[in-house]
Amino acid sequence: MHYVRLIREILEAALALVPAATNDRAGRLAKVRMRWHPLSGVDADHFAEDFALAANASIGYPVALEIVRESASASCDLCGSLGEVAETLATCPACGHFPLTLEGAGEFVLDEIEIADPGC
Ligand SMILES: [Zn+2]
Repeated sequence: MHYVRLIREILEAALALVPAATNDRAGRLAKVRMRWHPLSGVDADHFAEDFALAANASIGYPVALEIVRESASASCDLCGSLGEVAETLATCPACGHFPLTLEGAGEFVLDEIEIADPGC
């Protein structure tokens, strides 16, 4: 549960975007979409595992999570090959060299939320 604090902050930010209750029907946060970059330093799989538990524990109902995984620009210092990789431990596809020099925004950001339809 390394990411509980981060998840709480994300949920707080997401909940702040849910419109206030109307006609006694509170809007519910249905889904959170995160945009993940390999250089963000966040273990996306671990985050996803923690998210399910932490969401239920902190707001009392399950919230779906989608992680959009971006790739990092990579260059090989040995053979000069350029490309895109989805993880920081990737080796050069051309010559197998490791590590590659990675570039990119390195972000892990709240991209979009979905609010449940309270129904009729
Ligand atoms: Zn190479």
